[in-house]
Amino acid sequence: MSGSLVVVGTGPGKAELMTPATLAALARATDLVGYGPYLDRIPATRPDQRRHASDNRVELARARYALSLAAAGREVVVVSGGDPGVFAMAAAVFEAVETGDPGWRALDIRVEPGVTAMLAAAAEVGAPLGGDFCALSLSDNLKAWTTIERRLRAAAEADFVIALYNPASKARPHQLAQAFELLRRIKAGETPVLFVRAAGTAEAKVIMTTLAVAEAAQADMRTLVIVGASTTRRIGRWVYTPRSEGTAS
Ligand code: SAH
Repeated sequence: MSGSLVVVGTGPGKAELMTPATLAALARATDLVGYGPYLDRIPATRPDQRRHASDNRVELARARYALSLAAAGREVVVVSGGDPGVFAMAAAVFEAVETGDPGWRALDIRVEPGVTAMLAAAAEVGAPLGGDFCALSLSDNLKAWTTIERRLRAAAEADFVIALYNPASKARPHQLAQAFELLRRIKAGETPVLFVRAAGTAEAKVIMTTLAVAEAAQADMRTLVIVGASTTRRIGRWVYTPRSEGTAS
């Protein structure tokens, strides 16, 4: 008998931003697998449910473990923060399926969408993602810094609004500063830059500034950085990007 594996996201933090479909999957699960702090966000459902907390950096090993539990007949839920498909566990699960036991391909594997940090951050400040936008992770754990620079340059030249995930860590303090340097060579100094920390939680904190004076030190691992397009503008305490290319009149 084989079980199932559902990959879910807890949303950005606030309980109301976890979807009902995710809550239903969590209530059915016999086993929860995920990074400890994300598992801590989940209310206890059934007393017989097992929780397998792990370190944040062992994603592939965690995915393989979850698949082996499902293959043994358990109803497994793998827990990510935000949306599980955005820089998170869903891709790790499919990578494990691709490279692992061929029997895993027959398992009942599903992904539930969640509210990703970028959407919660945008909602805190208005509608900065109202026009075309793109998302990049600044983490170079899994890709070269030269790749990140090439994509940043292309995004700036195409005038996308840019959402930056993983803007900073103790191991990589200089990267966001380098990213701002690169963007300043292409985009106007007055381009709005937003630092949204703990978006979608009671502790949400927003810094609105411009590319000319944005300081990398204002971001940490719980911050999402949004760099505007040429049309992105501030109106009072809000920032938005109009849906049309032309300027409002
Ligand atoms: N799967 C997650 C993203 C994982 S990458 C999602 O969909 O949101 C981790 C990065 O997400 C962090 O470094 C930070 O840039 C961003 N992030 C996650 N939660 C956040 C929050 N509540 N507020 C602001 N940024 C957040």
